[in-house]
Amino acid sequence: MPGPSREASRRLTGTLAVTWIVVLVLLAAACTAHRPAAPSGSGPVALASASAAGSGAAGSRAGSSSAASPSHPASPSPGFTTAPSPLGSSPSVAPDPANLPAIPPGAVPILYYHRVQAPPVAYGSWSKARKATFIDYDVVPSAFAAQLDWLFDHGYTTVLPRDLAAYWDHGVALPARPVILTFDDGWHDWVGTVLPMLQARGMIAEFYVTLDAISDGNISWPEVQTLAAAGNGIGAHDVHHVQLAELGQGRPDESPATMWAEIVGARQAIGQHIGIYPDSMAYVGGGFSPALEALVQEAGYTTARAIRRGIVQGIALRYQLHVVRIGPYDDVSDVLTGRIDPSLPIFVARIHGVSDQHPSN
Ligand SMILES: [Zn+2]
Repeated sequence: MPGPSREASRRLTGTLAVTWIVVLVLLAAACTAHRPAAPSGSGPVALASASAAGSGAAGSRAGSSSAASPSHPASPSPGFTTAPSPLGSSPSVAPDPANLPAIPPGAVPILYYHRVQAPPVAYGSWSKARKATFIDYDVVPSAFAAQLDWLFDHGYTTVLPRDLAAYWDHGVALPARPVILTFDDGWHDWVGTVLPMLQARGMIAEFYVTLDAISDGNISWPEVQTLAAAGNGIGAHDVHHVQLAELGQGRPDESPATMWAEIVGARQAIGQHIGIYPDSMAYVGGGFSPALEALVQEAGYTTARAIRRGIVQGIALRYQLHVVRIGPYDDVSDVLTGRIDPSLPIFVARIHGVSDQHPSN
């Protein structure tokens, strides 16, 4: 390519990168439901080098493109939905893969999902608001399958929060490229859709269950037991899906008694039903405080997941595990058909921590 054209291309690349940053800032501003805490605690402690060559993906992959079809109609529960995105569409510009930051040593991306579900046939006739509510909460199966395939093909191994704790507390080695997949709330599709897709690739995930999701009929104890029996982690996500801290606008945190009831009640019930007491919990709404962290530790959890963005975890922040939120429109060009950009430029950027540039998100 002649010099001037190359220069123009460079300029265009820079423009695209700036556009992507702007889109992320807008998304950050839109995300009010999951506002994280102000930074606290000491910095992260390095884990195993994420740059080491890795081929540790366990198991074999079969039927990688056989994303399961939705097993139930779309019915977002108001108690579990997040605020719809006002953007209503995917970022149209992905970051340039050649300009991504290096993945830092110690990176353990924790991916943050709720449901994996294709929109129903009627989706096309829904209002814009209803579409936004649906898609803000879900990832379409074709995108999820492609994301798992990317992780598999790039040597990532799924581990659980308990593996992080075992590394910190007992020196149990982590694989060269660890990644943690997490799901919040509790849905039938965890068994009907997500589990077969994980098992086809020899992968596991941490499922943070809210007890109310069981009493509401969104998932059943036998389904939770099925997930646990397949080697997945079952974490706690409150009894009543109550945000316990960082309630905003001068509102005080919930009382220590309420915090204790939520975090211990969920742990006890899950332990009694599946025979394994949860070692990890996820803060509802991402809200946490020093008092809540202390109670979580006292209750017996060894980690807790916040929703602050980041791909590097640390022992000093074991009760504030950082996440990469997978956006419902990431690399999806058509929600209804599930058409995606197979090179997954947005997902790859997120794995590289690009979305971490906005701590308020
Ligand atoms: Zn939740």
